[in-house]
Amino acid sequence: MTCRDVIDRVEGFAAGDQQPDGAARAHLETCPRCASALADAKRIETFLTSWAAPEAPPRFTAAVQSRIRRQNWQSEKRVDHVFNAAMVVAALLVLVGVAGMFNVEMVVVGAATLADAFALVGAAAVEKAAPSMATYVAAMGLLASALGMWWWTDGTFDR
Ligand SMILES: [Zn+2]
Repeated sequence: MTCRDVIDRVEGFAAGDQQPDGAARAHLETCPRCASALADAKRIETFLTSWAAPEAPPRFTAAVQSRIRRQNWQSEKRVDHVFNAAMVVAALLVLVGVAGMFNVEMVVVGAATLADAFALVGAAAVEKAAPSMATYVAAMGLLASALGMWWWTDGTFDR
């Protein structure tokens, strides 16, 4: 048994996680360096166990909870913005769809205008949604349903 073997296990001996076997005990009895390392480890162990776990400040839980609430509220607010933007896009799509029933030429112009509006609203929505992937996915879902409404109205009224 070398000093290295004993030193590696000294912390375990001091903490009581493991008991020194015969060879380790014999080494500790004859090697002052390892014996003193064990004594040090025991002192540190005693100090640490006697040191009471620090108590959380009295308002800690309340402060953490209100912080979580605030963050939830902010992310909901972000969803609201994206939802509103998606609703505006959906309304525009429906308007263009209705206009299409009366004038095909208007649709072409409207589509160009809508494309611009869509790019603007879309960029704003993505900017707001960037910190939250879930929000972004929700916005995509809303945009997809808006497009679904567009195809639905288009198909229904053309007949
Ligand atoms: Zn030793």
